Amino acid sequence: MSLSEITAQIRAAEKRYDRAPGSVELIAVSKVQPNERVQDVLEQGHTVFGENRVQEAAGKWPEFKDQFKDISVHLIGPLQTNKARQAFDLFDVIHSLDRPKLAQTFARLAQETGACPDLFVQVNTGEEEQKAGIHPKDADAFVAECRRLDLPIKGLMCIPPVDEEASLHFALLAKIANRNGLSGLSMGMSGDFEKAISFGATHVRVGSAIFGQRAYELG
Ligand SMILES: *Cc1c(COP(=O)(O)O)cnc(C)c1O
Repeated sequence: MSLSEITAQIRAAEKRYDRAPGSVELIAVSKVQPNERVQDVLEQGHTVFGENRVQEAAGKWPEFKDQFKDISVHLIGPLQTNKARQAFDLFDVIHSLDRPKLAQTFARLAQETGACPDLFVQVNTGEEEQKAGIHPKDADAFVAECRRLDLPIKGLMCIPPVDEEASLHFALLAKIANRNGLSGLSMGMSGDFEKAISFGATHVRVGSAIFGQRAYELG
């Protein structure tokens, strides 16, 4: 696979599922990939990237952002509260707002800095113990709380359980977003982004299908 093939598949899926042309954004997930591969995708003109660790992103994106124009970097992995300030500086969008403490910290940082990355609330649609995210039954109250804190909530994000049919999770996330008046849906990865688009994904997070297999998996 390549960037152009994935982009073509996204455009075709938009058409097939009656989605507006260009309504699905491709986040190229560059975590763990060697810089040459990332550079190659940057040189093809792609501007939207995803990382799941603050430290790793800090090691490559400030330089790439100097080198290439209009890059936006999305945090798609869990964020410790003590790294929130660094994340504010590094990322244009954060998809892993997953607890009240982090929302309060973001609100304080937004006040202090006068700016805030766009935010997605991560929902643990599978209610998995080891996975981050707000449980579906608590999502409405959490979104309301974030709005009360004036946080720029753009949508919801989920990572379906590996051993379950992803469609159920995509549908659930879309339902929760809809009843909360949220238009953004961050869902779908290399193996299921077309399916996610059929359920309304606005942001698909695709790594290995663009860059190739990662040399190792993050825990
Ligand atoms: C790694 C990762 C992806 C991309 O996974 P691929 O299967 O390589 O496309 C998407 N979302 C999150 C949260 C990830 O950590």
